[in-house]
Amino acid sequence: MTDKKIMGIDLGGTTVKFAILTKDGEIQQKWSIQTNILDEGAHIVPDIVESINRHLHLYNMSAEDFLGIGMGTPGSVDRNKGTVVGAYNLNWKTTQPVKEQIEKGTGITFTLDNDANVAALGERWQGAGDNASDVVFITLGTGVGGGIVMENELLHGAAGCAGEIGHITVDPNGFECTCGKKGCLETVASATGIVRVARQLSEEYAGPSTLKQRLDDGEELTSKDIFELAEAEDPFALMVVDHICFYLGLACGNIGNLLNPSALILGGGVSAAGELLRSKVSNYFKQFTFPQVTESTQIKLAQLGNDAGIIGAASLALKLER
Ligand SMILES: [Zn+2]
Repeated sequence: MTDKKIMGIDLGGTTVKFAILTKDGEIQQKWSIQTNILDEGAHIVPDIVESINRHLHLYNMSAEDFLGIGMGTPGSVDRNKGTVVGAYNLNWKTTQPVKEQIEKGTGITFTLDNDANVAALGERWQGAGDNASDVVFITLGTGVGGGIVMENELLHGAAGCAGEIGHITVDPNGFECTCGKKGCLETVASATGIVRVARQLSEEYAGPSTLKQRLDDGEELTSKDIFELAEAEDPFALMVVDHICFYLGLACGNIGNLLNPSALILGGGVSAAGELLRSKVSNYFKQFTFPQVTESTQIKLAQLGNDAGIIGAASLALKLER
């Protein structure tokens, strides 16, 4: 008898990514479809079902070949009911019975969790986490999110909000956040937050700087531009990056003191800044942690890129075996 496979789905606002993996985490097939968010997202789940069935047919597989399907989704997840609510980038305003629809449509057992948690599981299992029992993942992208794995279990909290690292306060008098409070990590360390910090600091900065000049000229800059200029040793860009890394190091230090994971993994688009980002965050992290944590918790860069979601999602299906 051959080993059963697992399937991972990473549901996002623009694409839905799918992968078929072995139970050891090796990706065997990978594909994606566009997310059709029209009609209040009513097409999303039917499109997923149709795509799964079409690909199983294509690969000469059937429902019996699978242990289960796991999915990462935006919005608030009820893991017991298998429903999702409030995923605004999918146009899902009402509660969606995702598990029921996908199991009915495919005949395969289904489970789900939120997208940041699932990415954390992926990096922990097959990426920078080295499959350790205690790992925290921070995603730095259009927003800042995260996931916490402690003693081999994903933490969810009373209302499923555990791991919302983006809303850790790093500056009580800082910028307003979409969550309604001030100075959240997300307001300064997301892709747009970094540009916002640069604009604010540029008002007080005097001295030669390409970054300062481009901001003063009204250019539309990205966080990537800022890190590239810092890499080229633009003095103002270095100052901005230092500020960002201070906030990240402060948040990571508090997380480290609280949870003492073996790794705090930085992922998402902003983490493409690489070693410049990692080393600076790590330096501040050391400043804000006490010695035993400083020594045993490492700041690392994510390794899986876009695949973290599908790999972590698929790993949810492994739990269905129990
Ligand atoms: Zn917030």
